[in-house]
Amino acid sequence: MSRVNLVGLLPSELEDLAVELGASRYRGRQVATWIYRKSVFDLEAMTDLPKDFRAGLAERAVIEVPEPERVTPSQDGSQKLVFRLAGDSRISSVVMPDDDRITLCVSTQVGCGFQCLFCLTGVMGLERNLTPAEIVGQVLAANRLLAPDRRVTHIVFMGMGEPLANYAALVTSLRILTDAKLGLGYSPRRITVSTVGLVPGIEKLGRENLKVNVAISLHAATDEVRSKLMPVNRSFNLVALMAALRRYPLAPRQRIFFEYVMLDGVNDSPEDARQLVKLLRGLRSKVNLIPFNDWEGAPFQRPPLQRILAFQSILLDAGLTTTVRWSKGEDIGAACGQLREPVPA
Ligand code: SAH
Repeated sequence: MSRVNLVGLLPSELEDLAVELGASRYRGRQVATWIYRKSVFDLEAMTDLPKDFRAGLAERAVIEVPEPERVTPSQDGSQKLVFRLAGDSRISSVVMPDDDRITLCVSTQVGCGFQCLFCLTGVMGLERNLTPAEIVGQVLAANRLLAPDRRVTHIVFMGMGEPLANYAALVTSLRILTDAKLGLGYSPRRITVSTVGLVPGIEKLGRENLKVNVAISLHAATDEVRSKLMPVNRSFNLVALMAALRRYPLAPRQRIFFEYVMLDGVNDSPEDARQLVKLLRGLRSKVNLIPFNDWEGAPFQRPPLQRILAFQSILLDAGLTTTVRWSKGEDIGAACGQLREPVPA
């Protein structure tokens, strides 16, 4: 029988496991505290657990945090971590320090099945879903890599894969990350889940009461353009998507984030900006314009700076909060849309 990885189990599942081993639920809570709150991944070091319970655990379980196979620093201070997982799959995470903030961008799948035309991960196709252990493991591994007095402060689900297409593992991971007592204790306001716009998943996530931020990869304000760029729009069009977002339960002062990759001559005209204003009217939103990040063989180009700023001005003038997000790690293939592993030689 293969042994279960304790990383990725909910605190309640660790309690159940303790009971199965003939111990009290309290012992399970202690294990959760060691792993998630103290980042201790060695059973031997869990000194307040009875010896026989530790021995029983060791027979049934392992504690496995993925070790980065490669850490590549960027000139801008960010770092790309590449992990080799079971089955020889590779994924990456990106650590992005910014003053007091350290944002970690995590992956949820090996590859991605949605084939957005401008995204290099889409070229890989979908290989498999990540497990909760592999998702939470990226955070634990990044924290272990940082200086002892520092840890990841913000987490964005914007790496490889479509989070809502790996729904169960996503939600389990979010519960572990946000559990304030027995999990990692991240405030849900510091976590953002980005999606291509899977309407049923967005509705389901809204009912989980997790209170994490939601980001929508919008990239176009008309079905005509969006369906060309993102095949998923043919299944869930803008009317369906916007209706789901208008119903989405937002906390006071919380907003929906929109990502809009700027593609030269495709979605960057003043008319596109005006359509976007119309689409978002009345919704509490924040728009992040992402200048296209190039990759070899990409059928798109980044618009000239002037055009990006003119687009932004139209949104700002209409009262939309809008920033231009210059991706980090472009020099190391870690920027938005550049994640692909292994990198072909
Ligand atoms: N699948 C989810 C999570 C990935 S987030 C989603 O699409 O939201 C990664 C973000 O980078 C998405 O908004 C994606 O559309 C954007 N992106 C993809 N390729 C890009 C590129 N070449 N340049 C800039 N942004 C890109």
